[in-house]
Amino acid sequence: MKAVVYERKGMVRLTDVPMPTIREPRDAIVRVTRASICSSDLHIRNGGVPRAKEGVVLGHEFVGEIVETGAGVKRFQKGDRVAVNVESFCGECFYCRRGFVNNCVEGGWELGCRIDGGQAEFARVPTADMSCTRIPDSISDEQALFVGDVLATGYWAAGIGEIQPADVVLVLGAGPTGLTTMMSARLFGPAVIVAADVNESRLALAKAHGLCDITVNPKEQDVVEIVRSLTEGRGADVVFEVAGAKDTFSLAWQAARPNAVVVVVALYESAQFLPLHQMYGKNLTFKTGGVDAGKCAEIMRLIEAGRLDTSLMMTHRAPLNEIICGYEIFSGQKDGCIKWVVTPFEPEKPIPAVVF
Ligand SMILES: [Zn+2]
Ligand SMILES: [Zn+2]
Repeated sequence: MKAVVYERKGMVRLTDVPMPTIREPRDAIVRVTRASICSSDLHIRNGGVPRAKEGVVLGHEFVGEIVETGAGVKRFQKGDRVAVNVESFCGECFYCRRGFVNNCVEGGWELGCRIDGGQAEFARVPTADMSCTRIPDSISDEQALFVGDVLATGYWAAGIGEIQPADVVLVLGAGPTGLTTMMSARLFGPAVIVAADVNESRLALAKAHGLCDITVNPKEQDVVEIVRSLTEGRGADVVFEVAGAKDTFSLAWQAARPNAVVVVVALYESAQFLPLHQMYGKNLTFKTGGVDAGKCAEIMRLIEAGRLDTSLMMTHRAPLNEIICGYEIFSGQKDGCIKWVVTPFEPEKPIPAVVF
């Protein structure tokens, strides 16, 4: 079958790999019906994810149909449509019982990083009972595509941000995860959401879909000044740093008011500097890390209820044949690309590129 393999730092390839098979009783094999390219795939390609293994099939955001289950899978059977979680987790260990599924002793971010993922025709999903979420009949595969990763991340971030109803919330970054963070933050009813990004079209998209109230381009405007002008000089009540760009980490804490919560969602490719001598007395609470994607069923219900909708992010769509072109366009933010949606491989169609 066709799949995208992370060969080594700086190179991914669309190639042929063996079909996945059941290895453990709790495994399921999923026929991938929709997948996506995530910024984390680019971080892996750039060598910025030390835990990623060379030779692994990439892809940790995908949905599909279960075609086979191991003897230990209880909740799913052949034919079920599922959203696959970026994190594989057991549901029973110390961390899982507390909801911290990212640190599950059996899993965490494995798919498309340490074990073969979903930028492929089929994928083996471990601990399937926990790592898959059933897609209800009223939701299409595509509507559920981001449930297991970018939407889970935005929803997790908004949840730990401790947003209060009158808050001014600042979201740094209007890329895919920035957008899902904004739409999830909305669910908590803050007074104002300010979105900052250097990409004007992404800001316009966020504003047009009501995900934010005010947009700021840090290249042209002073983010800290604007946030202060909205808060009697205090600064943002909650800051989400989703950009992971140069300078956005410092901007995040500078734009925060004293005693604010700063949620660092971004995945950095290098160390960040924390100038505690300058921050002293600001009494900030930093929350960091990889998503605990344990609330996918909740997210699915919110999609069903029409309260979360990611269709605005699906700017591009093409079969697996064209995924390498997708890497090129997605990574360069070319052609207004927010998310590149991968549809199943079409054997009769050409493969325009194989290496990125
Ligand atoms: Zn991802
Ligand atoms: Zn666990």
